[in-house]
Amino acid sequence: MAESLILTDRPQSPADAAKWTCPHDRHAQHGCVSCYQASTYADSALPQWNVSVWFTITKPIPIRALQDVYRHDRCFSLDQPSTPLVYLLSGRVRAGSGTEAAAGVAGFLLQNRHIVQEFTVTEIRAFHS
Ligand SMILES: [Zn+2]
Repeated sequence: MAESLILTDRPQSPADAAKWTCPHDRHAQHGCVSCYQASTYADSALPQWNVSVWFTITKPIPIRALQDVYRHDRCFSLDQPSTPLVYLLSGRVRAGSGTEAAAGVAGFLLQNRHIVQEFTVTEIRAFHS
């Protein structure tokens, strides 16, 4: 059964915020290092999620860093759509829920501070089929 979760930058109700909060009490938008690490060693019985995280930053990411992401981890890629300072991180991870998958993919950014120091997530899409 296909399942998808979509978060945009519209104001969130408390129920939405709760839905997007991972088991470590982190909002998926802020990323969660624990979820990221959990996804690295996830049980292969867990569903595989395709997650897209759009985020903005204040300083452009060097092209080289964008390419390195894919070279180091083939489950992740970092792309720059046409808008300046808007980036798209895509990841394929296994997790028990879409929220954990999204928090884990955004957590990749926290784990890779050499790529981005600070980021603001504007949209997340997570789905599995
Ligand atoms: Zn977490």
